[in-house]
Amino acid sequence: MSQTVQSTESQPVILRSAHEVRHWVDRERQQGHRIALVPTMGALHNGHMALVQQGLQQADSVIVSIFVNPTQFGANEDFSTYPRTEKEDLQKLYDAGANAVFLPATQEMYPDNFVTAISIGGISERLEGAHRPGHFDGVATIVCKLLLQVTPDVALFGEKDYQQLQIIKRLVSDLNINTDITGVPIVRDEQGLALSSRNAYLNDAQYNIAIALNKTLFAMAEKINAGEDIQTVKDRSTALLEKAGFDSLDYLEICDAETLCSVIKKTGQSLRILAAVHLGKTRLIDNVSI
Ligand code: AMP
Repeated sequence: MSQTVQSTESQPVILRSAHEVRHWVDRERQQGHRIALVPTMGALHNGHMALVQQGLQQADSVIVSIFVNPTQFGANEDFSTYPRTEKEDLQKLYDAGANAVFLPATQEMYPDNFVTAISIGGISERLEGAHRPGHFDGVATIVCKLLLQVTPDVALFGEKDYQQLQIIKRLVSDLNINTDITGVPIVRDEQGLALSSRNAYLNDAQYNIAIALNKTLFAMAEKINAGEDIQTVKDRSTALLEKAGFDSLDYLEICDAETLCSVIKKTGQSLRILAAVHLGKTRLIDNVSI
């Protein structure tokens, strides 16, 4: 078994196995602590840190998992090149006051005989699901494992991955998992670009194109709020995005904020605009509320 680094006043405990996590959770519970879980794939930035900060407000102890989950990457996606910055991540979590970091090896999460998968119908099939077959099965399976390993009182997910957040809410409700799911608003840079570990792939010229995504979505929200016809706004904005310099547009949809079904008329329900584009080797996603 790997060595568990003991927490000092502010140093997070480093855990590498489900067994070590269970032991840490037991001790936290003995002290009457409420536990928050923040699942991540590392390469931490201020978006992730907003989740940690929110966790610290909602619980006594925050555990952050860092695991680049192979089952949520498609065959032609960036699993092998996904940024891995463990040393810097640990420093950020130390500075933020996280209490524990779970850093499992792939073999720990997916031992040789592993065959189980969690699949969530309906909502998983649209948008990202339609363009990344199997992606949400991988997400749901790993998140379910983490929720069962940690049994947190609350788990925090970013609205950056808005569809993922809705799917996790469905998972927790359907399987009676006793964890509150908190969504945290998107953290953006000064140009409005949603922070993402994958933004590291963008060069300067691509960055200038990338910011057109958030600007288009915010402009759409403004127009729809002002009463403009949804289909017209969508058609014009699709044309704008196609001219902005992206290599391709996977989707641009105006959806019911909970079910993520496409909407063509505003009837008083909460709406969300969601989009995914390709730019060089980077795939960008973003969303805004209406
Ligand atoms: P990832 O490491 O990309 O799997 O993300 C881990 C968590 O951080 C997910 O719940 C993401 O939605 C969230 N997250 C990533 N980027 C942002 C951001 N810019 N703002 C808010 N949450 C984010």
